[in-house]
Amino acid sequence: MQPILDRAHEIAPDLIDLRRELHRVPELDRDLPKTQALVLRALEGLDLDITTGTALSSVTAVLRGGAHDGIGPVVLLRGDMDALPVTEETGLEFSSEQPGQMHACGHDLHVAALVGAARLLCERRDELAGDVVLMWQPAEETTAGAMAMIDEGVLEAAGRPTDAAYCLHVMSSGRPLGTWFSRPGPLWGASDEFIVRVVGVGGHGSAPHMTRDPIPVACEMVTALQTLVTRRVDINDPVVLTVGKFAAGTKENIIPDDAVFEATIRSFSRANRDLLEGAVRRLLEGIADAHGLRAEIEWTPGYPVTINDENEYAFARATLTDLFGEGRYDEEQFADPGTEDFSYVLERVPGAYVSISACAADDPATAADNHSARAVFDDSVLGDCAGYLAEVATRRIERG
Ligand SMILES: [Zn+2]
Repeated sequence: MQPILDRAHEIAPDLIDLRRELHRVPELDRDLPKTQALVLRALEGLDLDITTGTALSSVTAVLRGGAHDGIGPVVLLRGDMDALPVTEETGLEFSSEQPGQMHACGHDLHVAALVGAARLLCERRDELAGDVVLMWQPAEETTAGAMAMIDEGVLEAAGRPTDAAYCLHVMSSGRPLGTWFSRPGPLWGASDEFIVRVVGVGGHGSAPHMTRDPIPVACEMVTALQTLVTRRVDINDPVVLTVGKFAAGTKENIIPDDAVFEATIRSFSRANRDLLEGAVRRLLEGIADAHGLRAEIEWTPGYPVTINDENEYAFARATLTDLFGEGRYDEEQFADPGTEDFSYVLERVPGAYVSISACAADDPATAADNHSARAVFDDSVLGDCAGYLAEVATRRIERG
């Protein structure tokens, strides 16, 4: 049979057409009816068990391999579907028709690449001694669509647990077109937010002894938080904490009743993340108490850290370098403090997340980045993307 990558390039024109159709109709968050309809149309005629989401416009398709008796490995491939609240300024002929909405993170390419993988794998069904779960997922940018799909059973969609999970992401800048990249272990950060209200007792600025002034106490907390990060956290497993908002008072001679500040905290290991919430709460409550005030802390957990399993990462990397050569692979030295909700899948199933440059500009260093209104993704990478996804699933099933 023809190599998967060659066949992927034969069907690439269809994938490019689909991607451009998707690009015109970007949708946000969990409710993506047009995107979902385009996925379902593209899967018509393929022998797949297809279900759609209840809480969100997801599509789950199970491809049953023909060479096993119900016990072969289950491999999951994921493509996220949602766009961003950005008004497109690329000038592309297939630009977004929806002002204020744009596929500025390239998820339209992810959807099309996964359709390509579905077609390629269906053509090889008879040789597959395992099943493939194809996961088209809304709400990556917003409300953890991956977690919602896990709640709706995507990891057991084949009727037994998933053994390995893979996905890819396209990037519009930073590296030459067609360069693949990733790293073992932590890849994207965890992000948590907290809001602190320091509750005191206001009064006249000339008589602070008659009040409980929240402003110096809140200032002390901001400084102490930075000390906490530098004294309690291993320098080789970094944490970034930023207080990005601080508000109190109305006038120079009035002591306010309260002071409020908001912070974001980024970490790269489950151990640090677990340590920090308790440590932050103890520190802030302790400082407030020491001054006779009270701290109200509202903690909002964001996405967990995205961790590539060492073995699955090595497997994905070997697949990429076999297909495209060592010269097109660049192992990243550091994790990125951005976040990704595929982390929820990788907390439950070993797997690997890789990226590919789809940079359309001559100079990747100055090209508009993902999430920019001017981000341009070169869809000539779609054949390679679909070929990789189908190949890694096929090889992983063969490996058993
Ligand atoms: Zn993205």
